[in-house]
Amino acid sequence: MAVEIILSDLTDLHLHLGSASTPHFLWELAHEQGIKLEHKDYWKFIESVRLRRKTTYEKYLSFFDLTELIQSSTYAVERAVHYAISHAYRTADIRTIEIRFNPMFRNRGGLADLDKIILGAVIGMKKATLDYPVRAGIILMMDRRFNKKQNLIIAQKAIKFRTDGVVGLDIAGPLNPNFKMDDIAEAVECARGGGLKITIHTGEVTSSAEVWEVLEKLRPDRIGHGIKSAGDKNLLRELAKRKVVLEVCPTSNIYTGAVKNWNEMADIIDKLWHNRVLFTINSDGPELLDVSVKSEFEKLIEKRILTINQVKLLIKQAKQSTFV
Ligand SMILES: [Zn+2]
Repeated sequence: MAVEIILSDLTDLHLHLGSASTPHFLWELAHEQGIKLEHKDYWKFIESVRLRRKTTYEKYLSFFDLTELIQSSTYAVERAVHYAISHAYRTADIRTIEIRFNPMFRNRGGLADLDKIILGAVIGMKKATLDYPVRAGIILMMDRRFNKKQNLIIAQKAIKFRTDGVVGLDIAGPLNPNFKMDDIAEAVECARGGGLKITIHTGEVTSSAEVWEVLEKLRPDRIGHGIKSAGDKNLLRELAKRKVVLEVCPTSNIYTGAVKNWNEMADIIDKLWHNRVLFTINSDGPELLDVSVKSEFEKLIEKRILTINQVKLLIKQAKQSTFV
């Protein structure tokens, strides 16, 4: 009972649009648009958009290919953003939410206008915040596979839509040996100059050395995951000093194999806490993984990784760390 009361009016700061649609919603959205699906059988389709056990990081990311295809139109993006926000509110009382996505993976290789795709997201978000008592923002994502110019365009688009509800810039994507943080420094600087906040996916499956590089070269406000920092005491000190907030997504980290098991997760959270590193608990992929910020907190309490008092403080921390 006590836990129920605490776990209300929650915040999710790290959630991908590509993993925030339920299977039935995606199925209907695909059929509505006349998209030819590989599976004619709904129950087989479900398995291609849902993950319920540990896999590899590469396999995890491959789940996004299908959802991105189905979400690739102005109409689909609008519906998907509205659904992600309203569903999070209805199922987990998420009242502050930031949704991130890469518009270039939703414009059918350039066939659809990028501006219209982003506009679709903005409209879906605005409608959802009128329908439900939720405040929301959109984070546009660059990609580790993109060249410098493509990523710069995404940063410029984020600035263009800043007054419409795009609040931040991020980068994600599979590891790419040719990718260099230096190559996105200009895009990040440009976005910051345009009034946007910065969060960077790093230290999830990449090393603490990359987190150092990100701190020095990109000076982000927040870091997506950053869990590999836990093994580097100096880095933890630096993160605490700079008040950079880590967006921790426990179940996601277990499923991708970024973290071995819940004992390792407990150790990471303990180190962050005791080194006074600011962090928040997030879902990452609510529908793909069947998690919410609420269920993550319940799990962490049940496993005695967090106390009720810590949870209260983390809920407050998340509210204070939002870009919205
Ligand atoms: Zn993520």
